[in-house]
Amino acid sequence: MNHTRLAVALAVVCILIGSAYAVAKLIPASVDESKCIGCGACVEQCPAGAVSIGSDGTAFVDKEKCTGCGKCAKSCPVEAISTE
Ligand code: SF4
Ligand code: SF4
Repeated sequence: MNHTRLAVALAVVCILIGSAYAVAKLIPASVDESKCIGCGACVEQCPAGAVSIGSDGTAFVDKEKCTGCGKCAKSCPVEAISTE
């Protein structure tokens, strides 16, 4: 394999790894409004300030801010929020 082919192969591998990382990172949290009791635990735990309580009294996730870290899901007492 010459240097050009090796460079192309490495570039492809880097792109694939980068894409997989980006997809994994960008799965935002989602709220099941039928379960949410509006306790605010997820709001307090979110390091990105991505969760707020909406006018309907349930949690709302700003998908632009959410990093998919999962801290909100772990804090929810009724399993109403997830990142899966
Ligand atoms: S997954 Fe992380 S960043 Fe996204 S809303 Fe939950 S705590 Fe915030
Ligand atoms: S922690 Fe759960 S129940 Fe409490 S506001 Fe967040 S999603 Fe709703």
